[in-house]
Amino acid sequence: MLGSLFRAHGLLVASHPWEVIVGTVTLTICLMSMNMFTSSDHICGWNLDCPKQEEEVLSSDIIILTITRCIAILYIYFQFRSLRQLGSKYILGIAGLFTIFSSFVFSTVVIHFFDKELTGLNEALPFFLLLIDLSKACALARFALSSSSQDEVRDNIASGMAVLGPTFTLDALVECLVIGVGTMSGVRQLEIMCGFGCMSVLANYFVFMTFFPACVSLVLELSRESQEGHPIWQLSHFSRVMEEEDNKPNPVTQRVKMIMSLGLVMVHAHSRWVSSPSSGNSTEDVLQVGMELDQFSARRIEPDKPLWHFYLTRMVSMDVEQVICLALALLLAVKYIFFEQAEVESTLSLRNPITMSPPALSLDHTETCCMKPAPPCVPPVCAPPSTHDRKDKDQVIRPIPVAADRQQRSLFVIGEEEELKPETPQPRIPEVPRALPDCVAIFSNPEMGPKFLSDSEVMQLVTSKHIPAYKLEALMETPERGVAIRRQMISSKLQCASALASLPYVSYDYSKVIGTCCENVIGYVPVPVGVAGPLNLDGKQFQVPMATTEGCLVASTNRGCRAIALAGGASSRILADSMTRGPVVRLPSACRAAEVRAWLESSDGFQAVKEAFDNTSRFARLQRLLVGLAGRNLYIRFHATTGDAMGMNMISKGTEQALSLLQQHFPELQVVAVSGNFCTDKKPAAINWIEGRGKSAVCEATIPAKVVQEVLKTTTAALVEVNVQKNLVGSAMAGSIGGFNAHAANLVAAIYIACGQDPAQAVGSSNCITLMEPSGPMGEDLYISCTMPSIELGTVGGGTNLPPQQACLQMLGVQGASQDHPGENARQLARIVCATVLAGELSLMSALAAGHLVKSHMTHNRSKVNLQN
Ligand code: NAP
Repeated sequence: MLGSLFRAHGLLVASHPWEVIVGTVTLTICLMSMNMFTSSDHICGWNLDCPKQEEEVLSSDIIILTITRCIAILYIYFQFRSLRQLGSKYILGIAGLFTIFSSFVFSTVVIHFFDKELTGLNEALPFFLLLIDLSKACALARFALSSSSQDEVRDNIASGMAVLGPTFTLDALVECLVIGVGTMSGVRQLEIMCGFGCMSVLANYFVFMTFFPACVSLVLELSRESQEGHPIWQLSHFSRVMEEEDNKPNPVTQRVKMIMSLGLVMVHAHSRWVSSPSSGNSTEDVLQVGMELDQFSARRIEPDKPLWHFYLTRMVSMDVEQVICLALALLLAVKYIFFEQAEVESTLSLRNPITMSPPALSLDHTETCCMKPAPPCVPPVCAPPSTHDRKDKDQVIRPIPVAADRQQRSLFVIGEEEELKPETPQPRIPEVPRALPDCVAIFSNPEMGPKFLSDSEVMQLVTSKHIPAYKLEALMETPERGVAIRRQMISSKLQCASALASLPYVSYDYSKVIGTCCENVIGYVPVPVGVAGPLNLDGKQFQVPMATTEGCLVASTNRGCRAIALAGGASSRILADSMTRGPVVRLPSACRAAEVRAWLESSDGFQAVKEAFDNTSRFARLQRLLVGLAGRNLYIRFHATTGDAMGMNMISKGTEQALSLLQQHFPELQVVAVSGNFCTDKKPAAINWIEGRGKSAVCEATIPAKVVQEVLKTTTAALVEVNVQKNLVGSAMAGSIGGFNAHAANLVAAIYIACGQDPAQAVGSSNCITLMEPSGPMGEDLYISCTMPSIELGTVGGGTNLPPQQACLQMLGVQGASQDHPGENARQLARIVCATVLAGELSLMSALAAGHLVKSHMTHNRSKVNLQN
């Protein structure tokens, strides 16, 4: 109710900005002039010098006042400083406008009540500045700034008002009542100050409810017009503001405030009207004080002396306190203008390198802002970016890197901005690229380096081979800048110049990628991650993360998990754990090859090789060798445990060492390749199916007939029948190796992508035979098992080092190395994979048996987008 009232008010104000602005300004000026022309027409401090009564002013008062002023200056300075870190000139400007106008209203009110006493205003203003709260104003501005059209601005201001208005009103009321208590204290100075405090709060509130939203609406409308219809305020990092939940007040606090207000109202009523009328009326007191202050002997400007002389004399005769405040304000202004301005410019220019780049190398404006939808781009008509796109781009502020804890929430939520605090002042960089030798000199100068170069200068260095293109991330001051420059460099070579616009690249921790996961990085592809569960396995429950773009998959797996859970859970075992590498070596003759084979199979030979192999790692341990012979070629399959790592790098390293030892024993042995496809990695091969690779696991469950009917919507007989005809006979007919299942690869790939596994290993890891049998006394229950001999995975190394992938592993409680039993985390993950496959098999097979498959895919998997357009 209250919210909708404020919403209506916000909408009204935002829809009629001119009227509201002119109205509030007129009202303020009327108030001012009313007072000006009622008595004398001079105001102390403006055109009248009102000397202080020195004897009345205690030195301790002066000290307190000076400290208050300094704190007020610092407070305002820091408020603006933190606002500027948001990177929006709009927020900064709007906050400035808010401060200036509310100070103006406040001054007017003070002058009105104190009858033009600027000396009083001098004391009041610092208190006012200390009470001003820019956070609410900025929150409202951010609501508005997250809009993409003028209508949306109005709506968003209305929504902002609905959210912030009631809180702000209550806050203002409580503040007034609390501060108002001071006006009844009987201590004159305190009463005056509290009077100022109440006026500050009211002036602030008045401006926030009227002038401010109108101004925000108007400013955004005007800037939109100036951008020829391009919404320049669609700042991606403000998107989060629309989550109204963030701004909603705490109901408990609200209730406490309301109870407090009621109590205070009673206190005020009692002291003012019931007890002593003479001591109660604080406004009168304040007025009285104002009148008293006005009795000071005033020195007017002498008519024969010019105005500048009056002000000069005043400046020369300034008090120490005033000098201190002025010096502080000047110091901060100098710091702000000359130092911090440079920092921010440079930061923004780093974040928006196109600003400094020559037009030919500029990208489409969407490049800088991942929030904007990419323009439809069909290669033949895809044009290079227009000039006004570039202009638009210059206005857009890029999201800045997110903090580590926020990354856990999402890397692609642009708007999770973090304060960017440059540690050192950022250099100014000329817009026109400098000559190549100068750039080389700057780049190689250890005290300067790439951050002293513009993007176009860096590109010049790449083109002239002074910087290897593949080392851009490593050589720039931040990897993200290297990625941004590479994107600029390749965009002109693409079929569609704006192709990269929708490929995000900001807010990503590239330090975990460089040298481990990917090279020539140009961004990252976000893949939706769903969750299936709880998966009841071996007495534990797991929520399984699945990264996929196949609609139905997660839902279907979830159904399988539910059936398993209702059946009391699934059970699993690890049958074997050994990763393999199979090099090919050549000997002068087949007979010599047979001798080498015999030596490898002997106890001495194996021990020697094992020693060499095991020395290469703390975790890789050689278990056995399987040696195949083809003519004079030997194929040696090294089987080793690899702890919690998937182990391909580890085992390759061990194999290389073992082959060196073999060459010492058999100098004529020639290593053809460290991988002779006898491993077999990332290719379908019977050897993995038969001999196993990585983790070999089995999982089983018995599903009661009731669950088969009610959850899976089929019967045991139908399931068993489909399983035989499809997974066994059908796969045999197709000549399948290890493919005796319905869709094990679906589950394996989805978990692998979510959990940072090598996705190419879904090939071998999906080897699975699904068996179904009738079970129970009546044969109506369903016994199902999945046997997977070659699950290649790990919980350390490779993509498992990336934070989002680690988050998915953490969901399962298997992230990183198992401290107590190395290898246990990886084995647990293999069991989960096998059980999830079982859940997926149950559900898909049931859909096939019941004839639901096509229908559910048409509902949940068919794209609703008109692809032809
Ligand atoms: P890795 O990151 O290369 O090696 C694992 C590292 O983790 C080793 O340094 C190991 O120590 C250390 N570690 C610490 N605690 C461990 C524990 N509890 N268990 C196991 N190791 C532990 O990982 P990898 O699994 O060997 O290789 C995975 C990468 O290889 C993936 O990026 C994958 O895409 C890629 N790959 C490579 C090939 C290839 O032919 N080389 C083939 C396919 C995939 P130690 O130094 O003591 O061993």
